[in-house]
Amino acid sequence: MSKKALPNIKDVSDLTGKTVLVRASLNVPVKDGVVTNTFRIKRALLTINYLRRQGAKVVVIGHIGRDSEETLRPVQQELEKVVGARWCPAVVGQDVAGSVAQLQAGEVLLLENLRQDAREKANDADFAKELASLADIYVNDAFAASHRTHASLVKVPEYLPSYFGFNFLHEYEELAKAIEPSEPSLFILGGAKFETKLPLVSRYADTYTTVVIGGALANDIYKARGYFVGTSLVSDIDLRNNDILTRKNIIVPADVVVDGPSGKRTVAANAVLADESILDAGPASVRDLLDTIAKAKTILWNGPLGNFEAGFAEQTEALARAIATSSAYSIVGGGDTIAAIESLGLEEQFSFMSTAGGAMLTFLEFGTLPAIEAVLRK
Ligand code: ADP
Ligand code: MG
Repeated sequence: MSKKALPNIKDVSDLTGKTVLVRASLNVPVKDGVVTNTFRIKRALLTINYLRRQGAKVVVIGHIGRDSEETLRPVQQELEKVVGARWCPAVVGQDVAGSVAQLQAGEVLLLENLRQDAREKANDADFAKELASLADIYVNDAFAASHRTHASLVKVPEYLPSYFGFNFLHEYEELAKAIEPSEPSLFILGGAKFETKLPLVSRYADTYTTVVIGGALANDIYKARGYFVGTSLVSDIDLRNNDILTRKNIIVPADVVVDGPSGKRTVAANAVLADESILDAGPASVRDLLDTIAKAKTILWNGPLGNFEAGFAEQTEALARAIATSSAYSIVGGGDTIAAIESLGLEEQFSFMSTAGGAMLTFLEFGTLPAIEAVLRK
């Protein structure tokens, strides 16, 4: 893949007094109205602070949650602490234009969750025009959302001079390294929904020395091999005639942790009972990988090895510890995966932690994203 040079917000020579619309990735976990993880907010600050120092008026936009009722207010409260961000409880309309007009150079305003307006997801041109009318310049710093063809990501750039922010460019540089790994290389893919990940697995089995399939994805492989998977989570996919089954460099956990009427136990992957569910890899699976992890030059990891949120986090954590001690160039992404690494305090031990989940996988598969193409089309 030839890497394209992306327009960098640093290339704009005079930002003084300019109003800059920054699409940030602010989709953070919130509990009882309080942000519980600030990883993405911290990454967004690089661009916001740069723009403030340049004397720009900074209008930040983003989305949160899947539900259109959700609010970015908790994010504004975090941003207020660090950059004094003000709050605008609307996405478009007169009040928004009024709040933007009051901004002074170096000040920051956060607008409400874009998805409160259905036109965001519908990629509506009038909605994009209204957003664009608020500013002089558009900056996409939301790598984690840039696989979506939503108005704030692919339509707004049609109406404003458009650039990328530092978080976006950093993601782009780092994930490009994972597309062309140094050998021996190891790709670990966990989580669920094989139907969305199959093309990536096929492609990366060609470029990576070893590919490990874990999490609920492994259940689809067990099933295709004719093992009983009991009541485990499986995808709507039939891998029986897929060459994934026969490729020598694709491996799945040999042992698994199951839960069922007779309780939690560790068994060989082909010894699961009809009333049991596979919920984590077994300890031998990660132990068997230690040598491969230690020798790898590049490690790419996305997705937990088990049903992490329900407490089946043991092997995801064991894997995180093993990669942390490896000298490989390690690139990781996915919300649950990052949370596991952070809960162990291992974030400094990884070469790059992506803020993205789905966008990371799309970028790894295609080497680009819809929102990148939207800016380059200009
Ligand atoms: P991401 O959100 O990181 O992109 P996915 O949405 O593909 O990843 O998958 C993550 C989800 O997969 C988590 O909710 C996790 O609990 C679930 N998961 C992983 N392994 C299992 C399993 N064995 N059984 C049930 N759920 C699993
Ligand atoms: Mg998910």
